[in-house]
Amino acid sequence: MSRPDDPVIDIRGLTKRFGAFTAVDNLSFSVERGEIFGLLGPNGSGKTTTINVISGLSRPTCGRVFVLGYDIAENPRAVRAALGAVPQETALYEELTAWHNLAFHAEIYGVPSKERDRRIEDLLSLVQLSDRRNSRVGTFSGGMKRRLALARSLLHDPRLLYFDEPTLGVDVQSRRALWDYILALKDRGKTTLITTNYLEEASVLCDRLAIIDHGRLLALDTPDTLKRRFGATILEITTEPPPADAVLERLRRIDGVAEVSVDDGALKVSIDGQHLATGAVVTALSQSVEIRSITQREPNLEDVFLKLTGSALRD
Ligand code: ADP
Ligand code: MG
Repeated sequence: MSRPDDPVIDIRGLTKRFGAFTAVDNLSFSVERGEIFGLLGPNGSGKTTTINVISGLSRPTCGRVFVLGYDIAENPRAVRAALGAVPQETALYEELTAWHNLAFHAEIYGVPSKERDRRIEDLLSLVQLSDRRNSRVGTFSGGMKRRLALARSLLHDPRLLYFDEPTLGVDVQSRRALWDYILALKDRGKTTLITTNYLEEASVLCDRLAIIDHGRLLALDTPDTLKRRFGATILEITTEPPPADAVLERLRRIDGVAEVSVDDGALKVSIDGQHLATGAVVTALSQSVEIRSITQREPNLEDVFLKLTGSALRD
């Protein structure tokens, strides 16, 4: 039975092996109602495999997966009704118009005909394709097709949406548009699971993030907390005169300072997390040199990934 306070997705110890190869390794997390939850990891880290298990396309080797309280192994039909899939492949009918693509899909999903036209109009307007409703999809750009695929996935009013790398290879403008739609769906109370290997995307959209690599969970938290815990603030400071070695040594001893270097005359100080040691660095410096300029780079998820895995995020 599904209860109102069940997590939308609850994954417990999910493992998926292909032969001897472990693609997902004892993964556990849950997604709460109304949140945008991100699975962030490099190519081959097990994101699609995890999504495929959630959507019933693939069976777990071990572990259990619940969607809205239903065990996917026992109740695949209930799970499918709750899910709206926006797969990597858009798979639209190119020879049909935008409107007929949606109408056809509404039929398959058994959307009541009284409801159908109103929903189609509403969704076409959400994805800004109302004025192209009667154009054949074959004439659409890639971005328009993706938007139509998004509208299609919403036709049966699913409670949970998932997007598998929705902006892979999408131009900047369409990417921003898609982010706006995902945020608009959150306003409509939808829960969203999204996979991405774009750090910026995860940062902009997600309420919480699970970072995975080699099928294993490395960290799970809000983007801000992850940046604070694993990120780095970089200060670039020019001084007159350049700081002597003794000054650099003094900076290195400040709590929270991870790294101090001089590059091309500019002092570079890396601070763990979000700039709590910035004040102490500035004070220590100003006792012996004059500060001419300071720039500060906020921590980003790139740093987080580097810190967690010891390697940069692969593209
Ligand atoms: P991601 O979506 O994060 O890029 P995937 O979940 O697609 O990663 O793949 C995770 C790993 O599992 C990869 O090494 C991939 O080659 C492997 N894999 C995925 N599907 C299969 C399959 N059907 N058979 C064998 N190996 C697979
Ligand atoms: Mg994938």
